[in-house]
Amino acid sequence: MPQSERMQTCFMVSKRMNEGRMMKVRSSTTLNNETDKLICNPSAWSEFKGISIHCKEIKKESQSVKTYSEKLTNINPSWSQINWKKVEIYVNHLQIRITKAVIKKNWNLVKRLSYLLTHSFYAKLLAVRRVTQNKGRKTAGVDGILWNTTDIKIKAAISLTDRKYKAKPLKRVYIEKYGKKEKRPLGIPTMYDRAMQALYTLALDPYAEATADTKSFGFRKFRSAKHSCAMIFPLLAKKASPQWILEGDIKGCFDNISHEWLLEHVPMDKSILKQFLNAGYVFNHNLFKTVTGTPQGGIISPILANITLDGIEELLNTKYHVSKTGHYCSKIAAKSQIYLVRYCDDFIITSRTREFAEEVKIQIEDFLKERGLELSKEKTKITHIKEGFDFLGWNFRKYRNEKLLIKPSKKSIQKVIDKIGNIIDIGKTWTQKQLIKHINSITIGWANYHKGVVSKEIFNGIDSKMWFMLWDWAKRRHPQKARKWIASKYWHAIDTRKWVFSTEDDLRLSRLAEKKIIRTTPIKLDKNPYIDNDYWQKYKFQEGSRNLTGMFKKIWEKQRGVCPFCNQIIDISKYAEERPVHHIDGNRDNQKLSNLVYTHIHCHQQIHATKSIRCNNRCPTQGL
Ligand SMILES: [Zn+2]
Ligand SMILES: [Zn+2]
Repeated sequence: MPQSERMQTCFMVSKRMNEGRMMKVRSSTTLNNETDKLICNPSAWSEFKGISIHCKEIKKESQSVKTYSEKLTNINPSWSQINWKKVEIYVNHLQIRITKAVIKKNWNLVKRLSYLLTHSFYAKLLAVRRVTQNKGRKTAGVDGILWNTTDIKIKAAISLTDRKYKAKPLKRVYIEKYGKKEKRPLGIPTMYDRAMQALYTLALDPYAEATADTKSFGFRKFRSAKHSCAMIFPLLAKKASPQWILEGDIKGCFDNISHEWLLEHVPMDKSILKQFLNAGYVFNHNLFKTVTGTPQGGIISPILANITLDGIEELLNTKYHVSKTGHYCSKIAAKSQIYLVRYCDDFIITSRTREFAEEVKIQIEDFLKERGLELSKEKTKITHIKEGFDFLGWNFRKYRNEKLLIKPSKKSIQKVIDKIGNIIDIGKTWTQKQLIKHINSITIGWANYHKGVVSKEIFNGIDSKMWFMLWDWAKRRHPQKARKWIASKYWHAIDTRKWVFSTEDDLRLSRLAEKKIIRTTPIKLDKNPYIDNDYWQKYKFQEGSRNLTGMFKKIWEKQRGVCPFCNQIIDISKYAEERPVHHIDGNRDNQKLSNLVYTHIHCHQQIHATKSIRCNNRCPTQGL
């Protein structure tokens, strides 16, 4: 769909929403089965679960969960009894319908389905699950409230409502920015606001996915930075590939997106979006207004940023890829070789000549201006491929023999070495076990990120640097002891290697050089995560098979990459902690293949909560 048409339609959708006419959901058209009726309001759901909650009380619901716990003292719906499979199937079904409606440009239906989704109790449960499961769950917002018990979680889900919704200001903290003096601001919304954002994200994401730039990879379902790297390689590797790169850097993208633009173009309830955008923030007991930008640190922010920047691809395609008849023409595209690869606000555009790149830059500036954004003058560069450029922590460069190599960027290498050095410094008095665990958590993640590119030499280099740092650490602890004594205390011979930094009970420092280099297979760009389930299931399964080894690979292949408890895809490119290995009989010593399964973290928690099996949450979380 041409950008202008899409913008106009979106405008119409949001304009209608702005008029504040709450639509009536007619059960005959939108509710298509029994479960829908149960799910649409919490009271029905509670009855369904054999729990009675009085409707009147729910209608009186306020935003505060605390108030809720007072009202609902006699009711104890159980979080651990939730049938997540059913919940996900329901929400997913609506998301599929939203996606199809977006593709058909049936904006009325999109609006109706989004309303149904954001008002369904199942979606509210999912929203609460998301914010109580992610990393920030232990950090409270300005109200100091955490949702850390199963009781509070269920009450929180019941309390989520758009009625009189008012977002609280974000708690502003400043965090260190690598290699820079100034610190980066981070906003922390309250749990309630986070859950509201998660809820509206459930309905907005299908729209964002269906209208996204095909080569956008950041904060997208099933896509990751590695997939963008796999896309760039074939684009630049050939002899006739584009020679020039425009490295785009948008000045404070998240902070500067125009609220007017978002309110006009994002197809969601305007009054809710306004609350998200205008929440303001508190710093040093002072309240500040937010006049531009997305809620930093909020779940919905990356989706809003993606929606804002979607359309660059279409802009470039229309100008550089199509003939006068409006159809794609490879000959015309080859003239300029303008191709975009974007990871949220970070992007590159390839070009055959410097002049084309300059021209594109002006067009991007116009595109961004409409949205309240601009390119950073210092950081936006036009580079020749032989000079090389950095993107997402990698360096892409063509060497003398015309060979394109992708390596971890110097900055990224320095960053990981500094991190390890820092840990060794802090860990002066730690036990060897503590130190190994901390270092491993850094290096394993880093090596996994870079194992798809030319990293072998760099991995070796970091290993040897680490050896010297650890030798200093050990020497400092025992200044009076001989070198031989120190060596035999902390280093042991294991298999063919003599110097393994390890403990007596066999906890080893993992070596980066042991990582196998595995290329990422490019994804098919036209596959939608909501409607092309078969494709993604196959892709994710193969991705897992390629990346896992030994026992973990066998487990993965046995279950075909699908969680046996909910039948949904396990996304292997996410963090390893998110897919624990569960012991079916509850005996952690039984490491037989038939006793082990990968599960989602929430499925795992539920299995243990309902069956109260001993290995609760302590099952190994390894594999990648
Ligand atoms: Zn599952
Ligand atoms: Zn388990």
